[in-house]
Amino acid sequence: MSELIRLEWFFPLLAAPFIGSFLGLLIRRLPAGQGVVLGRSACPDCAHPLGVRDLLPLVSFALSGGRCRHCKSPISRLYPAIEIAAIVIALWAALMLSGWLVWAGCALGWALLALAAIDQEHMLLPDPLTLPLIPAGLLVAYALDPRLLVPHAIGAGAGFSAFALIGWAYKALRARAGLGLGDAKLLAGAGAWLSWQGLPSVVLIAAVAALLVLLARSFAGRLISPTTPVPFGPYLCLGTWLVWLYGPLIPA
Ligand SMILES: [Zn+2]
Repeated sequence: MSELIRLEWFFPLLAAPFIGSFLGLLIRRLPAGQGVVLGRSACPDCAHPLGVRDLLPLVSFALSGGRCRHCKSPISRLYPAIEIAAIVIALWAALMLSGWLVWAGCALGWALLALAAIDQEHMLLPDPLTLPLIPAGLLVAYALDPRLLVPHAIGAGAGFSAFALIGWAYKALRARAGLGLGDAKLLAGAGAWLSWQGLPSVVLIAAVAALLVLLARSFAGRLISPTTPVPFGPYLCLGTWLVWLYGPLIPA
């Protein structure tokens, strides 16, 4: 029981629903090129500014029955879903890690969550979310052991070039862009956090997960044509998260 009341658990879990609420804002505003910090939140339908009562994570959604208090238009279920996911990530990180690494894990997990949601909705992996993953990953590696800096920096370079190469080949073969540079930058971030040894596992987990989802969709009768673009970012995010917590599929 004393494990449960450790401080390293308490603060990330306390922060998680509010971070989740902020990520919901980020997910809506970043692809639209809107400022994230400036500007008050407002209902997208009636433009009524939201007050403190509307912005309490999960509580507001539950109390209002998922509707705007002013115009009664339904609020996207994405918001409570992101808030719950942010809490799950904090719990997961706290269970698997200890000390300051809990915070590092939360930061990585929350960034991946936002990236996955934005890519799923908009087929876009914004630079302000992918690029900071590279220095952050290198910093965490250096703090763990300065000797890790080189393999993790190689990982960042390898992640970018591998995906840029695959994307270029895909484009040359099919005469249209399949994978964007956003995927390459995300994989560079993954390499910085995992070192180059983790990258094959990330790509393998991502490919298998994407295939399983595609199969599940075809069984559900929601078959999509081969030309329908499928975002790969959410699966890369999943792979990065699992490999960071559990290590590569084949340990070095
Ligand atoms: Zn409204």
